[in-house]
Amino acid sequence: MSLQVFNTLSGKKETFAPLNEGEARIYVCGVTVYDSSHIGHARSLLTFDVAYRYLMFLGYRVDFVRNFTDVDDKIIQRARDERSTAEQIAGRYIEEFHGDSRALGLLPPTHEPKATEHIAEIVALIRRLEEKGAAYRVDGDVYFSVASFPGYGKLSRKNIDELEAGARVEVDERKKAPMDFALWKSSKPGEPAWDSPWGKGRPGWHIECSAMSTKYLGQPFDIHGGGRDLIFPHHENEIAQSEAAYDLPLARVWMHNGFLNINHEKMSKSLGNILSVRDILARHEPAALRHYMLSSHYRSPMDFSEQGLDEAEKAIERIIETIARFDEAAPEKATVPADPALLDDFRKEMDDDFNTPRALALIFDEVRALNRLMDEGRAAELAPRVAALKQSAATVGLLQEAPAAFLARKKERWLKAKKNISRKEIEEWIERRNQARVKKDWREADRIRAELFAKGIVLEDSSGGTIWKVR
Ligand SMILES: [Zn+2]
Repeated sequence: MSLQVFNTLSGKKETFAPLNEGEARIYVCGVTVYDSSHIGHARSLLTFDVAYRYLMFLGYRVDFVRNFTDVDDKIIQRARDERSTAEQIAGRYIEEFHGDSRALGLLPPTHEPKATEHIAEIVALIRRLEEKGAAYRVDGDVYFSVASFPGYGKLSRKNIDELEAGARVEVDERKKAPMDFALWKSSKPGEPAWDSPWGKGRPGWHIECSAMSTKYLGQPFDIHGGGRDLIFPHHENEIAQSEAAYDLPLARVWMHNGFLNINHEKMSKSLGNILSVRDILARHEPAALRHYMLSSHYRSPMDFSEQGLDEAEKAIERIIETIARFDEAAPEKATVPADPALLDDFRKEMDDDFNTPRALALIFDEVRALNRLMDEGRAAELAPRVAALKQSAATVGLLQEAPAAFLARKKERWLKAKKNISRKEIEEWIERRNQARVKKDWREADRIRAELFAKGIVLEDSSGGTIWKVR
């Protein structure tokens, strides 16, 4: 089987067949940089990070473009509130976004264009739409004429008459039709502005993605991605602009991730339940967050809860501990070819529209089986299966560091949470036990081991000495 991807445009799963063989070109709508990234952004970011990684695993050369919307009403408003400039606000949140991306373990895009650095391309595209009769001027503004594009509504399956009926309440009298949208906005004093054939102004939101995706990827490209909330109007408008300009499809596949709620409620400023990526990662492992997100299929709605995240943390610990256990039991077997049967099973699940919940279930079944076999002392023969496990987990971005680093942080967190025992005390216990063992006082040595076990600590003796682990 080959990769099947659900295409919002056709409403069904399709075999992924990129335009240029061996090459996958993806554009994903990025964030508007006026505030911190939240957990809803993280879902979208992780969805497309996994698609990016999986396409590379399949052997594609991937060109992955994700933009920054760095000029927008919200940025301008924030600058006003803080007596700052739009540029400073955007700069601050782009920097923060990069920090969050690193913390989330996202692969860097091949291009990360900013709207403000593509004004020339945006102006050229709007000019082209004017020449083709798809855009019109009103004072210093330019609007896209939805009536000029017969395919309008094909992505969102919205009927233009219904849309117009709904829009009539807030209709702008200067527009020819209610659904027409701004390509260029004249600027008011104090707002960021660029010279244009229509006077000083700035681009509307939708046009930047049409201009930048085509610049970096050509038209059509293979996959256009984003959250479900972007289907209408943003992606519908991108299609209208780009296809009216070039008489070619904009993208072949439209991939959208589902909504994320928090404890069954929509995340919103008014409910005060917005969780930032930073807050979450201050309390949880990035790998736990990733595991949690991937345990729902990207198209399904997801309900986020701390309890769900705690469970994911246990699951990822179990995977990492299993690998660490194998590496200790059979260190000489660390690099062998991966078991092809297991990788095939993993690929089957991922080929089915990036079915990460089933891929994770497979990984977890394997973790259980490996532990059982290691209990039986059969570690040495498990090397190809462990290699396949590592490769599968790494392909969804789960093993980005050595198990030891992850487990050391787990120890630190455990120590911090435990008020009644310190690292120093544990080391003293181990020292007392060593002395007992030297004196062949096995009863005392066993008593200390049992006492520590009761506190949640396991001791492991090897030729290199005794180490302790959190149970
Ligand atoms: Zn976009």
